[in-house]
Amino acid sequence: MRIGLYPGTFDPITLGHVDIIGRAVALVDRLVIGVAINRDKNPLFTLEERVAMIKDECHRLSRETGTEIVVHPFENLLIDCAQEVGAQTIIRGLRAVADFEYEYQMVGMNRMLDSSIETVFLMAEARYQAIASRLVKEIARLKGDVSSFVPPAVNARLTEKFT
Ligand code: ADP
Repeated sequence: MRIGLYPGTFDPITLGHVDIIGRAVALVDRLVIGVAINRDKNPLFTLEERVAMIKDECHRLSRETGTEIVVHPFENLLIDCAQEVGAQTIIRGLRAVADFEYEYQMVGMNRMLDSSIETVFLMAEARYQAIASRLVKEIARLKGDVSSFVPPAVNARLTEKFT
């Protein structure tokens, strides 16, 4: 069974993440979405809220593709989380060149920690590539329209947070 782990903070899940998840489910039999608890990043949404929003979006994808999608909060080392869920593959999204340096280092170090786990990079459709959770939050905080960046349910939660 091919198991992939897609880790991130998902604060909140955006259409960029949804695009990557849609591509990842075609490559594995089970996709585990690892939600980093990230207390020191001071997330806008609680872990429970982030998990609920991801689950909402994944129901449809899972039904359409038949791939099992599991949402798994984690606080330990990424490579330990991958081992724990039995993933052979870590899936990451690659946006701009700016992501590359960090990702390059991460792959190198994770490979030294466990060489049997492969990292795979996927690219979202062009119109979703510029989307970043951090900017979505900033725009929503300033009452801008984020409806083309996040799913409708997430948009509603953002509006709720900032009113
Ligand atoms: P970060 O690692 O910056 O906290 P997230 O946790 O939000 O980012 O994202 C998790 C993963 O999703 C990362 O691999 C990130 O590169 C990817 N990702 C986020 N937004 C996009 C996007 N718009 N297009 C492609 N990949 C994305």
